[in-house]
Amino acid sequence: MDSTSPVMVPDRYVGTVYLLHFDRPYRHARHYIGWAKDVTSRLALHQTGQGARLLQVVRAAGITWTLARTWKGTRLRERQIKRMGGAARRCPLCGVRPQRDRRAVPDAAWATAYRLRALTDLWWETTDPVERDRIDAEITALTESAPCTPLPGVTSPSHGELAA
Ligand SMILES: [Zn+2]
Repeated sequence: MDSTSPVMVPDRYVGTVYLLHFDRPYRHARHYIGWAKDVTSRLALHQTGQGARLLQVVRAAGITWTLARTWKGTRLRERQIKRMGGAARRCPLCGVRPQRDRRAVPDAAWATAYRLRALTDLWWETTDPVERDRIDAEITALTESAPCTPLPGVTSPSHGELAA
């Protein structure tokens, strides 16, 4: 172990930050961001409405959710992602569309929107973790720089199957 490296983190602190996308908003909430060492069992817990107050009330309201995206990392990463805000901008299931001013919609914005949807589909289809990380980095770069705004409510049916 390289003790001089500031990024060395004991394995038990490394888990998964996960972004849940609600099928319809609860009040103003469309998303839930959490962190778990074992994301599979945490999601199974959430399916029963346990593990988070928001997900409990969301379930009581009859709202379902889909795992939209994950990031590898510690609780620090979770806090960073939450602090950045705008979960929808990081949510592939919210989709994107060029900004509202139709006179000024650049072709590049449409190209970015289509690219993002294609990358999202690719991300779901990819099982190689290294390739997934590469795709995820490209999604992050696009969602943080794209001349697009989130389009709430647009989901791809194929993603629903992966929610369970
Ligand atoms: Zn979303």
